[in-house]
Amino acid sequence: MTDVFGDLVGQDEAVDTLRRAAASAAALLRAAVPVAAGAPAGGYDDLDALAEELDGTDADPPPAPAAEADPGAGMTHAWIFTGPPGSGRSVAARAFAAALQCVHGTGCGSCPGCHTTLTGTHADVRLVVPDGLSIGVGEMRALVLRAASTPSGGRWQVVIIEDADRLTEAAGNALLKAIEEPPPRTVFLLCAPSTHPDDISVTIRSRCRVVPLRQPPPAAVAEVLVRRDGIAPDVAEWAAAAAQGHVGRARRLARDPEARQRRDAVLAVPRRLTGVGAAFDAASALIEAAEAEAAASVVEIDEAERTALQTALGAGGTGRGAAGAMRGAAGQLKDLEKRQKSRATRAQRDALDRALVDLAGFYRDALTMALRAPVAPVHTDTAALAGAGAQKWDAEGSLRRLEAVLECRAAIEANVKPRIAVEAMMLALWRG
Ligand SMILES: [Zn+2]
Repeated sequence: MTDVFGDLVGQDEAVDTLRRAAASAAALLRAAVPVAAGAPAGGYDDLDALAEELDGTDADPPPAPAAEADPGAGMTHAWIFTGPPGSGRSVAARAFAAALQCVHGTGCGSCPGCHTTLTGTHADVRLVVPDGLSIGVGEMRALVLRAASTPSGGRWQVVIIEDADRLTEAAGNALLKAIEEPPPRTVFLLCAPSTHPDDISVTIRSRCRVVPLRQPPPAAVAEVLVRRDGIAPDVAEWAAAAAQGHVGRARRLARDPEARQRRDAVLAVPRRLTGVGAAFDAASALIEAAEAEAAASVVEIDEAERTALQTALGAGGTGRGAAGAMRGAAGQLKDLEKRQKSRATRAQRDALDRALVDLAGFYRDALTMALRAPVAPVHTDTAALAGAGAQKWDAEGSLRRLEAVLECRAAIEANVKPRIAVEAMMLALWRG
C-alpha cells in the first residue's frame, strides 16, 4: 500500500514540500501551537488530548524545537498548486488534504482520516468544483463561513478549490478576506494553471505558498503505468508519449481500447479533410467523440462516490435516528449529484481539449519534420502521415494549421461555443 502521495508522478520536489508541511502541521497539532495568533486560549489541553487520542499514543515526546520556534517554516494557511492539465494539481491538493487529516500526520493512505478524505466523505474537507464555468460569490461566501468553524475531527478545516482561475472577481475578494485573516485551523488549497494574474489575482497569490507541478516526463509516466497498473512496458511507453505528460490520459490510452479508438479517430481528421462538407462532418465527429469520452470518464468515479457515500451513511439502516440520518443523506446525495453534473460538463470540455491537444501534436510533428528538427514525434503511430503532411504543406503551412488548432482551444477557453470554434478550425485546417 503506497501512501497518499503515490499518485503524484514525477513530482518529487512538490511531494517533498508537502510531506514536510504535513509533518510540521502534525507537530503543530501535537503541540497545539496555533498557526496564527488568535487561537482561543485555554483550548490547548483539550486539543492536545484529542491529538494524542487520534494518534493512538498517550505520551508523545515534546515537539522538535524547530517546529515550535518557527511554525511557519513548513505549514501555512493558503496554498496554490499550479501546473499544466494532467500534471495532477487536484491530485496533489487532495493528497495534501489527506495528509493533514491523517491520524498519523503522514498521509499513510490507510487510516480513516486518509481514506475519508480521498473518497470525499471527510467532514472537514470541502471540495469546490466550479459549477458551470465560474465560481460565484454566493458559493464562496458560504464556503468561507463554514470553513471558519472548528474542525469536527480535531485537526484541520480544509477547503480545496479546483480551478481557482475560474473564480469571479467578487468570489476572489471573498476568498481573499478569509486568507488574509485565516481562522487558526483552516487551510485553503487552490488549484490553478499558473500564477499569472489572469489565473490568480496578485493579492491572493501574495498570501499563498506556491507548489509548482511540472509536466511529468514521459519516462516517469511510463514507469508508473508499468509499476502501478501492470501495463506492458512497450504499451506504457507509447501511451506516455501520446498523452504528452497527462498521467490519467496515458493510463486510459494504455488500458481502454475505446480511448485508443477515439484518439485514432482524432488523428484521422487531417486525412479526412477533403472539402467543406468533410470539414463540417469532421467537426461533428470530433464533438460527439468528446461527449462520448466524457461520459465514459465520469461513470466509474460517479458510481464509486455514490457507493462510498451510501456506505458512509449506512444505507438501509433502521432504528432510532435513522429518519434524521435519512434527511441528512438526501441532502448529501443531492450535493453529490450536483457535483457530479458539474463534473460531467467539465469532462466534456476537457475531452474536447484533449482531442485538440492530440490534433495539435500531429501538426507539431508535421512542423518539426518540415524543419528537420531533431525531436521525437508526439505520435509515433502517425509519424508517416505527419511526414507526408510536412512535404505537402512545408513548415509554413504546418505552422498555420498548428496555430488554427491552438486558436480553437483559446476560443473555447474564452467561451466561444465549442461547435462554432471547431467548425472554424476544421475549415482552416482544410484550406491551410
Ligand atoms: Zn493516514
